[in-house]
Amino acid sequence: MRSITEKQLRSCFVNASLRERNALTLPDGFDDLRWDDLDYLGWRDRKSPQLGYVVVDLDDGPVGIMLRRSDGAARTRPQCAWCEDVHLPNEVLFFSAKRAGQAGRNGNTVGTLVCAQFECSANVRKRPPVAYVGFDVEAARRARIETLRENVRNFAATVMKEG
Ligand SMILES: [Zn+2]
Repeated sequence: MRSITEKQLRSCFVNASLRERNALTLPDGFDDLRWDDLDYLGWRDRKSPQLGYVVVDLDDGPVGIMLRRSDGAARTRPQCAWCEDVHLPNEVLFFSAKRAGQAGRNGNTVGTLVCAQFECSANVRKRPPVAYVGFDVEAARRARIETLRENVRNFAATVMKEG
């Protein structure tokens, strides 16, 4: 994704109040992030761990979404809805995001299962296991990156959808 400044970050949230945007804690190492290796920026708030933030790089610019961890317990071993990794090295948690605008003020939310610390970008860049002789590992990796980007863009679109 394209890099953003702290100012852009704090102003791009579509479902957080001014107070929430000012209060959010930046991700660790924000000044040294390797943006090229990120399909989206996601982190948990160090001071309020029940909160998570995601910034998605859309065509019109970055869009930030505040998420809240909720107790929608998973029935089976959960899979992250974004990176769809079946060999997950990390925990997957249920988060819900308030919808943007009036829908959100009416209490409307969108829920999703996501890697607990938003590790998706790292997960899809791991070398996939070779499925068969002649398996194109690099193509598989690119496809997983593209799927992740698509899933995150779709989530952002759902949060922003009117009504
Ligand atoms: Zn994931």
